[in-house]
Amino acid sequence: MQPMDTYTALYRHLLWPLWEAVRGRPTRARLAYLERSQFRPPEELEALQIGKLRRLLVHAATHSPFYRRRFRAAGFDPARLRSLEDLERLPLLSREEAQRSQAEMIVPGSPLLEKSTSGTTGQPFRFRYSPDSEVWRQAIKLRAYGWAGAVPGAKTVHFWGPAAVPPNRTKALKIALDRALRRELYLDCARQGEADLQAAVDVLRRLRPTCLIGFTQATVQLGRFVLRHGLRSWPPMRVICGAERLFPQDRPVLEAAFGAPGSVFETYGCREFMLIASECEAHQGLHLSMENLVVEIVDERGRRLPDGEVGQVVVTDLHNLAMPLIRYVTSDLAAAMPASARCACGRGLRRLSHLEGRQQDLLRGRDGRGIPGIVFNSVIAGLGGKVDQFQAVQRRDGRIDLFLVPGPDYDERVVEGLRHRLAPYLGELPLHVHVVHTIPPLPSGKRRHVVIER
Ligand SMILES: [Zn+2]
Repeated sequence: MQPMDTYTALYRHLLWPLWEAVRGRPTRARLAYLERSQFRPPEELEALQIGKLRRLLVHAATHSPFYRRRFRAAGFDPARLRSLEDLERLPLLSREEAQRSQAEMIVPGSPLLEKSTSGTTGQPFRFRYSPDSEVWRQAIKLRAYGWAGAVPGAKTVHFWGPAAVPPNRTKALKIALDRALRRELYLDCARQGEADLQAAVDVLRRLRPTCLIGFTQATVQLGRFVLRHGLRSWPPMRVICGAERLFPQDRPVLEAAFGAPGSVFETYGCREFMLIASECEAHQGLHLSMENLVVEIVDERGRRLPDGEVGQVVVTDLHNLAMPLIRYVTSDLAAAMPASARCACGRGLRRLSHLEGRQQDLLRGRDGRGIPGIVFNSVIAGLGGKVDQFQAVQRRDGRIDLFLVPGPDYDERVVEGLRHRLAPYLGELPLHVHVVHTIPPLPSGKRRHVVIER
């Protein structure tokens, strides 16, 4: 850990406490609690989850007609919940169902904050959560970012998706003040022209932040740009990446461009819950935010899978009493690491491994079977520096357009080699390869390697 500079110390011990008091948020106390609880043994953390889960379920049954009906249909009495496995008796909640049933899920009279998913995978979902839940989310984020050395007040540059426009001037001012005090600078990672990337590099050169926090794939692109043009002029910074997958081949790029070995920290979250799991300094899987969320890895019928098996990530938010989300299907895939294998860092928080792409990334084969979009990543990763970026789009008629941005080692044989290696997976599906200069990100700043038109 780097020594704390004067401003960071001033912010942490004086400005932040004052600012949080002005805004009436107990984030610091919550963070202090989380800093201690993370080292409790996994069984104690689970016992804590069961208590909070029972409270949430009883609350939902009392105040939400939607859940009351659900529990009754399943013959489920929330007051009698004894273990996390008891949750299996409740049906899974899809995003579409949550979207449809919102009015009946919101607990009347609760103060509400509102957010919306980016809609990358369909229609945006506008959901509500309580101010108390927001404090938990922020405290969980601060703890996880702290593992990477991004303590409150440390200088950070965010290479992040374009922010929503604040609803009014007061809110915009509050956000600007918040960021200035925290020394956070935001750059729009959806802008990926050469001039934009150069501007981002200039900011890093000038500010030399402790930490660069970015959308994974956009940051990898920035990293490639830095390496290609030999632009690195800064001492190692930490890199926290999120919002998109980090592929094994991405880590060395980020380390070489910005940091040093061991300086890249993967996080996994979504807008509905914020941080679900984060990597610690031991870099052995991602620790779950157990004090705030119950995460289950399940099969398509909602049954828990044994540790180590890849399944759907299903989340229950323990503190969003305003609009309970119980067994909400995230559409991401991952595996749980065994509870018995403790992380070298000593934390008792259970871990996820094998974070895999979204479930929607299944291409339709000619015989109706699904082909995981990840095959493109694996095959293209095997080409080293020959391909910089790619995107595979499956059209409605089944054919696949594969767009490639050539890398420094690109040569004429790449396309043939790719066809050859992809053939066993794609079978009869027609494949058209297009060599292009750029692949524009989505308006949200995210990149999708695999797009399936439906
Ligand atoms: Zn750890």
